[in-house]
Amino acid sequence: MSITLQGIGIGGGIAIGYARLVTRTNIEVAHYRLAPEEVPAEIERFENAIRHTRKELETLWSGIPENAPAELGAFLSLHIMLLNDHTLSQEPIGLIENEYCNAEWALQQQLEVLLAQFDEIEDEYLRERRSDVLQVVERVQKTLAGHDAGTHIHECGADCILVAHDLSPADMVLFKDSRYLAFITDVGGPTSHTAILARSLDLPSVLALRHARELIREGELIVVDGVSGVVVIDPDERVLEEYRARREDWLGKQRALLDIRLSRPVTRDGVEVELFGNIELPDDTEDALEYGATGIGLFRSEFLFLSEDDLPTEDEQFEAYRRVVQMMEGRPVVIRTLDLGKDKVAKWQQESLSPNPALGLTGIRLCLAEPQVFRTQLRAIMRASAYGQVKLLLPMLSQISEVRATRRHIEEVKAQLREEGIPFSDDVELGGMIETPAAAVAVAKFLAHLDYISIGTNDLIQYTMAVDRTDDAVSHLYDPLHPAVLALIAHVITTADRMGKPVAMCGEMAGDPQLSRLLLGLGLRRYSMLPIQLLKVKQQLLTADLSTIRPLVERMLAAEESDQMRDLLLELNR
Ligand code: PEP
Ligand code: MG
Repeated sequence: MSITLQGIGIGGGIAIGYARLVTRTNIEVAHYRLAPEEVPAEIERFENAIRHTRKELETLWSGIPENAPAELGAFLSLHIMLLNDHTLSQEPIGLIENEYCNAEWALQQQLEVLLAQFDEIEDEYLRERRSDVLQVVERVQKTLAGHDAGTHIHECGADCILVAHDLSPADMVLFKDSRYLAFITDVGGPTSHTAILARSLDLPSVLALRHARELIREGELIVVDGVSGVVVIDPDERVLEEYRARREDWLGKQRALLDIRLSRPVTRDGVEVELFGNIELPDDTEDALEYGATGIGLFRSEFLFLSEDDLPTEDEQFEAYRRVVQMMEGRPVVIRTLDLGKDKVAKWQQESLSPNPALGLTGIRLCLAEPQVFRTQLRAIMRASAYGQVKLLLPMLSQISEVRATRRHIEEVKAQLREEGIPFSDDVELGGMIETPAAAVAVAKFLAHLDYISIGTNDLIQYTMAVDRTDDAVSHLYDPLHPAVLALIAHVITTADRMGKPVAMCGEMAGDPQLSRLLLGLGLRRYSMLPIQLLKVKQQLLTADLSTIRPLVERMLAAEESDQMRDLLLELNR
């Protein structure tokens, strides 16, 4: 008999497959009093378990696959941080020492104190961090009990759907590398880590199904509808037929997206836009081309500096840039000079980080402080310019003098190359990232010295909202629709238009299909994003009508309440 369960649908799409239950070792927490002479050994046992768990999490963290969503690393770091916090790693020692509790019991008591504190929190997002504490403590308890803490989710055949009580970020690392069609869990809320990761993996998934694991048997056929949040266990033929048809429809839509790969990005009322790809390494260019990018709008060149122990040489950099430029066959390639020092840190920098890296020697500041490194990169980029259309982009501008100083370096590099008889193009444009509120507010002054600009919304939001973009504890305050953020973007675009200078956007906002029409209404015509987002954004724009969008966007700019903002956004995307 088929059973239908309702949970929270996260990834879009439908999957039909066989249940693969992840066993959850239900650990009986041992509970006994120690003799005083047993205390030192018990403390050592507890400390060993913490150390062992930390090592496990760190190993998983360093083994995160390159193509994994960025959030995964942040979530695992949060778990390591929770584990290191004295409330989990020190307080139980006090209980062992003073109350003669065994290690498991001491940890469990401390967990209960922490959970009670979480239950008091009103903010939904913060309250959900409760499950992170639970996951971490469960790992330590498993280690204390001598169980292997990892779930065995990597072994799976084709057509499998993972059924778990919960998936921790650590489990997600394994899941990312597996071949599961979908996953469902008993717990999790719409802003839980599991949900955020599921969204970025773009897989059908349903959370918060409560007792799914008790109702589903290993190998049973199940249907997962990630749109409506419905899971059907053992569907009858009629239900199965219906979901097969819906799945075909969904796959058809995915394929239809591929059909628009080569269509010209133009709105219904004839407004042309340009859709470019963001890349981190030369190989990503293939994805950008595959999804129809007509240019590279952001080559995050610092990734060439992250993997090596030593700095990449001029020739190594030149080869990397030339490869991309040649693959793009004359279409624009925007190479951003290295942007290290805050969220991205190279091995050679680790000793000398600023006390507050996001406000320290980062982006263009670091480039100018390390003229040798900067000039080597400028030479490599200029040399690559002989092979196609290269544009330079400067990260993290906050002073106009940074542009002037860069121009001096470029002129000197060009003079050297000329003298050495090395070819380069004389038409390399110089652009600046607008990602500090200083550059956004004073954009006209910057534009007077630049050929074009590109809005980096990831940092612009972080600095405008005073919200660390990598800190999970405040990520609910990271709001692209905040009136201050929209006002800054509108100001930057209108000013650039008025001055007749091109303006692009290469932060994550440009690749969010929910925001494509809003940005169009704000005047954006050049979007650059992760290649995987290109077709979803294109579809939003192909079906848009600027004349109906504009008045709605005007209302959004005037809106004060976030509810009103969300309603208008819904209307815009209808
Ligand atoms: C940005 O800040 O929006 C941006 C594109 O740069 P990055 O994400 O590399 O800091
Ligand atoms: Mg940035």
